[in-house]
Amino acid sequence: MSTAEKPIQELIREHRASLPTPYYLIDEPRLLENLKKIRYVRERSGAKSVLALKCFSTWAVFDLMRQYMDGTTSSSLYEARLGYEKFGKEVHAYCVAFSDEDVRAVRPFASKVIFNSVSQLKRYAPSLKGLPLGLRVNPGVSHSDFDLADPARRYSRLGATARAEIEEAAPLISGAMFHCNCENDDFKKFGEILDHIGRGHEPLLRRLEWVSFGGGIYFTKEGYPLDAFCDRLSEFSRRFGVQVYLEPGETAVTRSGFFVTKVLDIVRNEIDIAIVDGAVEPHMLDLLIYRTDAKIEIPQRGGHTYMVAGRTCLAGDVFGTYTFPEKLEVGSLVPFADAAGYSMVKKNWFNGVQMPAIVVRRLDGRVEKVKEFTYEDYLLNLS
Ligand SMILES: *Cc1c(COP(=O)(O)O)cnc(C)c1O
Repeated sequence: MSTAEKPIQELIREHRASLPTPYYLIDEPRLLENLKKIRYVRERSGAKSVLALKCFSTWAVFDLMRQYMDGTTSSSLYEARLGYEKFGKEVHAYCVAFSDEDVRAVRPFASKVIFNSVSQLKRYAPSLKGLPLGLRVNPGVSHSDFDLADPARRYSRLGATARAEIEEAAPLISGAMFHCNCENDDFKKFGEILDHIGRGHEPLLRRLEWVSFGGGIYFTKEGYPLDAFCDRLSEFSRRFGVQVYLEPGETAVTRSGFFVTKVLDIVRNEIDIAIVDGAVEPHMLDLLIYRTDAKIEIPQRGGHTYMVAGRTCLAGDVFGTYTFPEKLEVGSLVPFADAAGYSMVKKNWFNGVQMPAIVVRRLDGRVEKVKEFTYEDYLLNLS
């Protein structure tokens, strides 16, 4: 078996001496599976995909991602700059609210600037002559299981809502962005949202050159009707004469990242609790925000059950409760799955916990430690 095909658990065990925990592991062979689907969507539907950097900005794997995607989309000046410097290709520069300085600074990096409101569009369009501009439109419908992440929730500030105002500003833009999905794996629901957008904004869409449907569409999921999805996208593109864009974040990197930890202590308080050398708040913050458990790729049957918890002093620093085939001991490795999106971009120094290193398994099987953090990084993070 080549190292590129070796199951992750085995790879992690084999490297236990050379790779001290904790570390994030990005698996390029797994990432490639998603990227191939993204390329398939472009080939079959014509829809381009730009990576949403707010989900994933680990640029050590951009050489691979660049071959399958059309560029990046950003939510700030710094992300736009990172996209320009490290990814290349198209840079969609979006921000919920640009400052005067941002607009001046982002210009050299941006292929398109997308504004979140008609007021920002009108304010900055004169200073960005010659650059394609876009407007984020809030279609008033969405798919999200979490109110916190629902762009169409009541009083949402995400995207223009007033029809008359949008129509009036239309001559200033060549495209529009509708980001209104969050982990939507339901093709039918996506279709309904697409219909709603098509019906609700027909005059606007007819005059545009490009339309982005944002991120949050889970089309790389096993079993997603990819061909039907492509057909809907190309139908939309033909009907309105627009270049369609997608902005995948999570769906581009899902299943390809791991957070590898090691058990430091096992305590008992009614149940067995394994404390590992990582922590939820600094290393996998979204678990706390969305109140979900970390995923783990170990079949949950028989064996030995533990609550696995982090090493910060937060009482609720808990990854989840899992069943392992063997008893855990001090030194046992515990890898959490699906740790690429919205975890590495959110890592922080809470409790001064050792920052996980970043490790990549390359396509050819080479295992490379691309980044280590030290006390110096912690020190320089504040002043
Ligand atoms: C967050 C976001 C994305 C990426 O969303 P995912 O759910 O990670 O695919 C894309 N576009 C915009 C405008 C976003 O805010």
